[in-house]
Amino acid sequence: MKITYSIIAPIYNEIDNLSKLVRRVKEVMDSSDESWELILVDDGSTDGSTERIRELAHGDKTIRPVIFARNFGHQVAITAGWDYARGDAIIIIDGDLQDPPETILELVKKWKEGYEVVYAVRAEREGESWFKKFTAALFYRIVYSITDVKIPVDTGDFRLMDRKVVDVLKQMKERHRFPRGMSAWVGFRQIGVTYTRAARVAGVTKYPFRKMLKLALNAITGFSYFPLQVATYFGFFSAGVSILAIPVVIYMRIMGSGAFFGQATTLIAVLFLGGVQLISLGILGEYIGRLYDEAKGRPLYIVREAPEEL
Ligand code: UDP
Ligand code: MG
Repeated sequence: MKITYSIIAPIYNEIDNLSKLVRRVKEVMDSSDESWELILVDDGSTDGSTERIRELAHGDKTIRPVIFARNFGHQVAITAGWDYARGDAIIIIDGDLQDPPETILELVKKWKEGYEVVYAVRAEREGESWFKKFTAALFYRIVYSITDVKIPVDTGDFRLMDRKVVDVLKQMKERHRFPRGMSAWVGFRQIGVTYTRAARVAGVTKYPFRKMLKLALNAITGFSYFPLQVATYFGFFSAGVSILAIPVVIYMRIMGSGAFFGQATTLIAVLFLGGVQLISLGILGEYIGRLYDEAKGRPLYIVREAPEEL
């Protein structure tokens, strides 16, 4: 069967959102008069979402469940969705209805005008804490300023991509993934559409601070060497300063000035440089660990149940 739209929703413990999600996506997509499928990727839910997904998919060919063997993370769930999607246009949407399904039609309109990546930009965010909004805003701006690819700010994974784009993304096998960066990296004709990000319908965020930090690290290490270069810049800076300072200190010492006596001065210099070196080592470790993960070449995700037809 020919499918025009594949909608991918990653699901991790969203039991109270699932029926509503399916209902709203159905309403919107049925109004388009084109064929569609909804791929629900169950990312190792433990709250009964898995069973609910099976129920919803039972006897309904438009709902296609992909059920993971355990929790692999949001980014990986999206990736599995790409692998199973059959449509000409692929749409990623959150499972908690923060991304209104109605916006899909606006994304589709731009796709029909010839854009190959249509990303949804958050004009407003409802029902989220100031801490979340602040850290998110900071995250987007830091990532924007230090990565080599210009990843649009205030833009999550909610987007539509043409089949051509997803076929390229499927070849990008990196383990520590940042799908929004990847989809900016590939090029093609891209455009943003603004929308108001709604509050979660039910449940709580699955992105505690720890996970946000991990995502930020994936974004930065995946698209920039800048942190590795910081050590070099700092080295040049401190070498430069010491070349200037050494003659001054020697001169003052000869002249009998007491300005640089004492252990405190030495201690400060040693601790400071020691700290900088340890941080630089840690950054190196971060990149080497990622290299190690890539080298192992393990599968990105393990599927327990998947739709028969790929
Ligand atoms: N999610 C997932 N695996 C995870 C964490 C989250 O599949 O390990 C899903 C989650 O069910 C939701 C989407 O990813 O559909 C976005 O997560 P969430 O709403 O918790 O993030 P937030 O909107 O708070 O940034
Ligand atoms: Mg959410």
